[in-house]
Parts: sequence; structure tokens; C-alpha cells
Amino acid sequence: MNTVFLFDLDSTVTKQEILPTIAEEIGKKDEMRELTEKTMMGDLPFQESFRSRVELLNQIPVAKVAELVSEISVNDAIVKFLNENKENSFIVTSNLDVWIEKLMNRIGMKGRYYCSHAKVVDDKIVGIKEILAKDSVQDMLTSKAKIVAIGDGSNDYDMLRKADVSVSFGGVREIAPALLDISDYSVYDENKLYELLTAIRNEEDADE
Ligand SMILES: [Mg+2]
Repeated sequence: MNTVFLFDLDSTVTKQEILPTIAEEIGKKDEMRELTEKTMMGDLPFQESFRSRVELLNQIPVAKVAELVSEISVNDAIVKFLNENKENSFIVTSNLDVWIEKLMNRIGMKGRYYCSHAKVVDDKIVGIKEILAKDSVQDMLTSKAKIVAIGDGSNDYDMLRKADVSVSFGGVREIAPALLDISDYSVYDENKLYELLTAIRNEEDADE
């Protein structure tokens, strides 16, 4: 059976939450932090919070945000796994296409991600076309695939719950309490995560 790995982006692949990092650049750090913390802990509905957070940032030219996002530091061991398993690995993020495209190219994930979509006019975001429901990706994939999902926040809950193997990652920030309850594994170090995922992949290879 084919194994597919689905990775959250913010604080799983990246070493920082993306939107707060951008907010800091434009002096809106406190407003953003409050919204983000509430969301991560599940105290604010994700869609509502995401729209509010995009609104905080939508006056910045899209190209500028994309540039800042592309420079965000990443967990190298996780990116190594992604690149070693390109055919079977995807990033699943609610973040916006126009903001993350450059970063995806930089880490070798061009065309290997699912995300939300923004409407842009004159380099400014004027609306959100669609906010990705992370667990909808599983429905798009072949039913023959065994799904391994990796994430850290409460918006990863449905994706992890639906996965065959769920891994919560606490190497960047505290894992959302709801995720800990449903995860098959909780890992707190990127190198350990690399080892675990590689072992899962090798197990599958051995079964074939
Ligand atoms: Mg995350």
C-alpha cells in the first residue's frame, strides 16, 4: 500500500508561525499574537480568526509578504524528509497561495502543497476565495493510500483524526492539547521526527 505523508506548514515545517512573523515586521505583533494564540488553543473558530489575521496584513503588498515568508527558517530535518520522499509528501496549510508560493519553491515543494486561495488586485489581497479545510485533502487522495499526518495546532485536529497514523510535533511550540489526546505519536525534536517517519516509510517498503 502506498503511504502518503501530510505535513502542516506553520511551526511544523517552519520554525516560526508565518503570520505573526509578518505582523512583527509592520508593528502589529500584539494584535496578531492574541488572535494566533486563541486560535492555536482552539478558543477562537479557525475560519473567523484566519480572516481577521489576513485583514491585519492585507495592506502590505503581496510581493513583500511573499518575500518575507520565503526567508522564514525551516526545520532542516523535516525538509530533508520532504525532499527524500517527494512523490509521497505534501504540505497542507491554511495559509494563502500568494504568500507561500516562494517559500514552497525554496524548499523544493513546488506543486506539492494544498493551501487557501486569495483574490489579489494590484498586489493587494482583496478577498479570500477559499479557506482550505485540511481534512478535505484526505478525501482527494486515493483511498488506497495509508495516510500519515503531522501537525502541531488545533486546526490540524481533523486532519490528524482522519489519518491512519497521526503524529503531533512539539519541536517548535507547545502542541495543542486537543491534538495530544488523539495522536499516535508525539515528537519534540525534528531529528526524532525524521527518524520516526523514515521508519514508518521503511516498514511500508518492507511490506510490499
Ligand atoms: Mg502549525
